[in-house]
Amino acid sequence: MKILTPTQLGKAAFQKYVDWRRGNRPAEKRCYKTTDTILLTFDDYASADQTNRLIDILAAAKVRAMFFFQGDWAIDHSDLIEQFREAGHIIGNHTFSHQDLRTLTDEQVTSEVNRQPVAQPWFRPPYGSYDRRVRSILAGLGYVICYWSVDSYDWAEGATSKSIFDRVTSRLHPGAVILLHAHRDATIEILPELIAEIRRQGYQLDTFSDPAWSPKA
Ligand SMILES: [Zn+2]
Repeated sequence: MKILTPTQLGKAAFQKYVDWRRGNRPAEKRCYKTTDTILLTFDDYASADQTNRLIDILAAAKVRAMFFFQGDWAIDHSDLIEQFREAGHIIGNHTFSHQDLRTLTDEQVTSEVNRQPVAQPWFRPPYGSYDRRVRSILAGLGYVICYWSVDSYDWAEGATSKSIFDRVTSRLHPGAVILLHAHRDATIEILPELIAEIRRQGYQLDTFSDPAWSPKA
């Protein structure tokens, strides 16, 4: 990534840019962590095989991750969700049927959130799509939004283990929240090396021995 200089940006903008590079991002993009640990998050769904591989890799590396599953999958796979939970990972709500919440009525948003069998407080909006109205409905239901600060683009057509690795490892910053998908084999294949490279760059990942954190009221 090209480092900009104060003359290119102006002083105030440069300070903002330095803060951004240091990871001083809004609470939602840090998933409300107050520490500089890096958090891996995995969305949507996983097969039984992918579940086992993810749990094994994360256990070997002692990394605690966050999983946001969609409810229409979760309902038939409570056994897999229980495996993630028992392994010590954090489970969040990713709505029932993965629709763009901004296009739904208040009642539909509420139903999409409540039909998902997950306890509060973590919520990740499908497609990262939300606005003030959606956020306030979520708050009323006891949820906060856990967004991300680094998108691996593993969801994109043609994404490879290498493209995922390169994209994530060139964008790391203190407190990063990394968006990954549990159903992408390319992501699971590169995960051990990704974890190793994050640590090689001097960052700490969220681990099972770190205290739980929660959004401040
Ligand atoms: Zn999703």
